[in-house]
This record gives sequence, C-alpha cells and structure tokens, in this order.
Amino acid sequence: MTEHVDVLIVGAGLSGIGAARHLQDAFPQRTYAILEARNAIGGTWDLFRYPGVRSDSDMHTLGYRFRPWTDAKAIADGPSILQYVRDTATEAGIDKRIRFGHRVIGADWSSSQARWTVRIEHDGETSELTCDFLYVCGGYYRYDRGFTPEFAGIGEFRGRVVHPQQWPEDLDYAGKRVVVIGSGATAVTLVPALAESAAKVTMLQRSPTYILSLPSVDAVANRLRELLGPRRAYTITRWKNVAVATLIYQLSQRRPAMMRGFIRSQTVKQLPAGYDVDTHFKPTYGPWDQRLCLVPDGDLFRAIRHGNAEVVTDRIERFTPDGLRLESGAELEADIVVTATGLDLLPIAGIELRVDGRTVELPKTMAYKGMMLGDVPNFAFTIGYTNASWTLKADLVAEFVCRLLRYMDARGYDSCTPTPDPAVDRRPLMDFQAGYVLRALDRFPSAGTRQPWRLGMNYAQDVYTLRHGRIADGAMRFERREPQVVGEHEHGSEHATA
Ligand SMILES: Cc1cc2nc3c(=O)[nH]c(=O)nc-3n(C[C@H](O)[C@H](O)[C@H](O)COP(=O)(O)OP(=O)(O)OC[C@H]3O[C@@H](n4cnc5c(N)ncnc54)[C@H](O)[C@@H]3O)c2cc1C
Repeated sequence: MTEHVDVLIVGAGLSGIGAARHLQDAFPQRTYAILEARNAIGGTWDLFRYPGVRSDSDMHTLGYRFRPWTDAKAIADGPSILQYVRDTATEAGIDKRIRFGHRVIGADWSSSQARWTVRIEHDGETSELTCDFLYVCGGYYRYDRGFTPEFAGIGEFRGRVVHPQQWPEDLDYAGKRVVVIGSGATAVTLVPALAESAAKVTMLQRSPTYILSLPSVDAVANRLRELLGPRRAYTITRWKNVAVATLIYQLSQRRPAMMRGFIRSQTVKQLPAGYDVDTHFKPTYGPWDQRLCLVPDGDLFRAIRHGNAEVVTDRIERFTPDGLRLESGAELEADIVVTATGLDLLPIAGIELRVDGRTVELPKTMAYKGMMLGDVPNFAFTIGYTNASWTLKADLVAEFVCRLLRYMDARGYDSCTPTPDPAVDRRPLMDFQAGYVLRALDRFPSAGTRQPWRLGMNYAQDVYTLRHGRIADGAMRFERREPQVVGEHEHGSEHATA
C-alpha cells in the first residue's frame, strides 16, 4: 500500500525547515514529511565548506521571521547559520520528519484523485509516496557540481584546481600561491580568508563587480536587543534592514550615477593611494543590475592594503604547467587555482512533473506570484529574492501556502490551480543580468507582465499580496475531487505521521 502524507516538502535546507515550521504551527493535525536527498540538514550552509564561508546579507533578514537571530554578528559565518537552521529543526521536532538520502525524481498529479504520486530514489531503489500538496524547497542549483567554464590546458597544470562547491577538507594553502578565478560573492569571501595564511592570493576577474563594505556588527540591532528584548528588537531590526536594502536597490535602479559615485568613493577610501580603481573596481553595468557584493568590515580591501591579496583584471588564455597565461601576455604562477566561477542552476529541484500524464515543460509554464506554476495543481516552490535576503520570500511563500490550505479546508476544496491568462506576456523569472542566471534562464519557468504573474522583487509589496492579499483572486481555480468510485481505495493509501 502506498504511504500518503497531506503535504510533502522536498529539501531540508533553510527553506524546507522554515516551511515545515510554518506548516506544523498552522495545522498541528496535518501529516507531512520532508524528503532530503543528502544526509544532512542545512542545504547550502552544510554543502559549502570553503574558508571564510559566510552570508552576504544580514541575519536579521536571512533569519526566519518566527525565530530571532540573537548573535551579536549580523553578517554570520556559515557554521553559525547551519547551527541556526539545525536548532530551528530540532527545537520544533522537525528533524524527526526528515527522511535523509531520499531524492525526489518525479511527481505525477492525478486530477481524479486530487493527489500527487511522487517517485523517490533511496539507496539505489525507487519507491512511491502520495501527497495532497507538493511543496518544493530544493534550492536553485545543482548539488553534484558547480559551474566551471572550459579552460584550455587545464590538464597541464601541475598544481591543484579546486571548485568552492567541493572544497577538499585536506587542502593546505598555507604559504602557497593561490589564484581565485571570479569576482562574485564567493570570490570576494574567499580572497581575504585565504590571504590570512597563503603566501599570496590573486583574484583574477574578467570584469569588475560592485563591492560595498558593511559593518559585520549591527550596533543598532544589538542596542535594541538590550532595550527591548530579542523578539521586539528583531522585528524592528528586520524592517530597518529591509528599508535600507530597498533604499539601496531603488537608488541603484533610479539614480545609478549617484550610487556608482557613492560606491566608488567608499572603495577609494579603503584602497592604497594611487590604486587603479577604474580598472579593478569600476563595473560596466549599473549597480544592482547584478548582485551587489557586500564585504564585512572591508575585509577584502584590508587584504589588498596589507599586500597579501591583489586583483588582476584580464582574461585567461590558457592554463600552463605553472599557472595561467593571460590574454594580455602576463603569466600568473600558482600552486592552487580556485574556480569561483559560479553555480549550475537547476529549476524545481530537477523533479520531472506530470499533470494527468502530460509532462510539464517548465520553460513553457508561467509562475504565479513567483511560487506556484500555471496549470500545475497543489504545488508550490521557494525561490528567494535576488535583491534581498532569501528567507524574506521563503517565509512569505510558506505563509501563503498555509493560507491557501486553510481556505481550501474551510470550503471543502481539494485542489487549487493557478490558471494563466493568455493575454499576459512573459518576463524572466529571475530579473537579473548575472552570467550564471542568463546561462540557465531558458530552463526555468517565466514570470508574467501583470499581477499575479509578475515577479515581486519588493518585500513590502509581497507582504501585502502574499500575507494579506485575496486568495480567490480570479486566477486561482479551486475544485473538488470527483466522487470516489466504491472500491477505489483498494489501491488505496494510508495516512502516515512522518
Ligand atoms: C555560497 C552561498 C552563499 C549564499 N549567501 C546568501 C546570503 O548571504 N543571503 C541570501 O539571501 N542568500 C544567499 N545564498 C542563497 C542561498 O542558497 C539561500 O539563502 C538559502 O540557503 C537557500 O535555501 P533553500 O533551503 O531554499 O535551498 P538550499 O540551501 O539549496 O537547500 C535545498 C535542499 O534541498 C535538497 N534537494 C534538492 N533537490 C532535491 C530533490 N530532488 N529531492 C530531495 N532533496 C532535494 C538539497 O539536498 C538541499 O539540502 C547563498 C548561496 C550560496 C551558494
């Protein structure tokens, strides 16, 4: 007999644990399970182990709405974030609902039964489980490999090549010459951390990125906590930080010249006199057309000032036995080359979806409120903001799923299906110019030009639509299951508690 749960969550990362907490608080009687492909809680924060791994957004917004972040540091290191996610899971008993080593590979919706049959791989075997609602919190990138471009001559290099997604535990970089290829969040995190003990660290970038220094300790947040206690202080700090981040984003979009000038002046102040800021820190695009990199307490600039780190802006011609030859003709000698060249994006956790036997072609679907798919019933997914902390959106998605389930309970509905309007034009689901996003966009669903299909990139607006907006908005179709034929439950299902 196939086991059944009311809600199936895919993924035990930051989003999956948050989703479970919202769900069990709202519906203590509902059955749910979390299927997690790996053998650990934490997703990203367990996978990435490179030196210095940390958040680049503040933990008052990367933390859950329901669980105050009380650490004095607002920009936290990876292990502290992992501990926070784990503690959230164990405190609420969510860890007991997780089935580790279970990868969801496919899910079939049956309209007549109003349920999903989910195919799972576990220990080399395939099994099935049914659920009423499928909630995918599988992140947005492949776990088995990162993105590495083809580099000529890489096989000739005598040193070690490492991708930050698979950082070897035994990698000894003390006293070594390290080249980090890349200029994104991972590269700017790695460079100062490696520079603490490496002989020399070179950040080799094709083109510059906007980098803004931020205090790692939020003095206002810490003072508020002393005065008001953790919960009230957290709520206020969260909104303060949302307001500051929104202001920076809006100014970047509307007054790019002003923001460019501001970031440049901050950069110049932190670099040695006469430093070639235009070559290494003056991007060709506008601020926030790609993700703005934040560095805590200017650690990257400090490493450059101290001479343990340098930035080279050039293109790689090829690897050589001793390092890299650049298009300018320069040679960079290296013992270790780190390819901080990004993630390989993967939509909807790589799950093959079918609705009544028809395969869902993701690039042809349109996302509803950036969290459900057109013509796909009882299904939600979490993709966080690109211009603000992921968890702000993840919490709102979970709240909306709970509202939706409550609405259906009250009216006896079995399914809810966002129904696209053919008059709505398509827009990219991730409105972002970064290379790793552009490379993958054609594999993702799109968003639309109008509500509720338009991608919300503003937290305050999303609070309004997802937390308080109408559930029956005309685009969501609700249905009751067709009456069951006697004997049907012979193939049946049973309710499980985990
Ligand atoms: C290095 C790095 C730093 C980052 N820093 C920030 C930051 O500072 N601020 C910010 O807002 N965002 C940041 N992000 C984005 C980050 O991924 C999110 O903040 C957040 O951790 C995502 O959580 P998640 O649970 O949605 O996804 P993930 O952390 O990716 O977790 C997904 C989980 O689902 C599991 N899974 C996937 N597919 C399946 C499947 N088919 N079946 C079963 N299980 C599956 C995975 O094994 C994993 O455990 C960062 C990302 C990276 C890579």
